[in-house]
Amino acid sequence: MNAYVADFSAFSAPQTSRVEEFIFSSSFDRPTLVIDRDAVAHQFRALRAGLGRASIHYAVKANPAREIIETLVGLGSHFDAASRGEIELCLSQGAAPEHVSFGNTIKRASDIAWAHSVGIDLFAADAEEELEKIAEHAPGARVYIRLIVDACEADWPLTRKFGCAPDKAVDLVARATALGLTPVGFSFHVGSQTKRAAAWAPILDQVKSVWDATREAGFELSLLNIGGGFPAFYTDAVQGPTPYAAEVMQLVEARFGTEVEIMAEPGRGMVAEAGAIAAEVVLVSKKSENDMHRWVYLDIGRFSGLAETEGEAIRYQFATLREHEGKGPCVMAGPSCDSADVLYEKRPVELPLGLRAGDKVVIRSCGAYTSTYSSVGFNGFPPLDVVVI
Ligand SMILES: *Cc1c(COP(=O)(O)O)cnc(C)c1O
Repeated sequence: MNAYVADFSAFSAPQTSRVEEFIFSSSFDRPTLVIDRDAVAHQFRALRAGLGRASIHYAVKANPAREIIETLVGLGSHFDAASRGEIELCLSQGAAPEHVSFGNTIKRASDIAWAHSVGIDLFAADAEEELEKIAEHAPGARVYIRLIVDACEADWPLTRKFGCAPDKAVDLVARATALGLTPVGFSFHVGSQTKRAAAWAPILDQVKSVWDATREAGFELSLLNIGGGFPAFYTDAVQGPTPYAAEVMQLVEARFGTEVEIMAEPGRGMVAEAGAIAAEVVLVSKKSENDMHRWVYLDIGRFSGLAETEGEAIRYQFATLREHEGKGPCVMAGPSCDSADVLYEKRPVELPLGLRAGDKVVIRSCGAYTSTYSSVGFNGFPPLDVVVI
């Protein structure tokens, strides 16, 4: 029996009720993401309560709405930025440069130089050439080395593209030192939407063995960046943010003690539940008279914000004003002229039998990885609009 199943009271409920009320009482001329900034603040406090002494660097890429950054600056959050544009955004909303890390392992040299010039002093790297660029354009900067870890439980794994294998880690720390940089520690990412905190344990074991080998080779380490992965509520129950984060911290401290500086980079877990998308049914049809499923086409799809339905990985919940009606299975698709623009087909979605063109549909828990994944003008459709309440 694990804590994940046992403690039902600690499960998070969607924080979207204000957002949903707003959507059902407003009209929209295109698909619109509505974000509740109070819900973001609530989530920040809930994560902080569990993360304790760890510093929180919000992963800006999850949702870079200016009001979210401003709210988080006000609450004392730090930021993980992936590009010059994200750094500029954070600084423009009042974040101090020493509270912004440049966490992308693939950076343009000119962006490193620019970041250094505005006071950014903490950079990620996973390769010799990246360390050389940082040493040249941000001499003496603090760096952490990103490690590849086996992420087996995430709904949206992130690990293959980033990080170095454990057997390269010590060499990279040595190389950083030789280049005059200040290697402070390691980072990793368990994979986005890792639903159980217990899944972190074997990954932390992998990181600990690299940490120990590096210290045995004579290098001082002071920082462990545990990345993101904190889950949001979509369709399956997940642990609430505070007990989840507290369990992760227990697992971290059991291995790394209480002296090492810890930073966490929640993205999805900070903002997903704070937003919902207002969408509309464009067409309901059957492909043949004896078809089991209706096809429901929305005015939003894979290319206009719902990229994470790729492989049916993230399963959003839908709400309509017909909840009192009986439901039946539907294949859901977007409006574009691309046959890959099907959202859910392998596991159909249960929707009201009376659903028809023009009906409003709320898509829940859409605050993360939607607005920034929305194409600009594909097929002439406008990008996802964003409203912050
Ligand atoms: C995307 C990303 C995050 C955020 O991940 P979530 O799973 O959304 O919490 C954190 N750190 C880095 C380096 C990332 O690339």
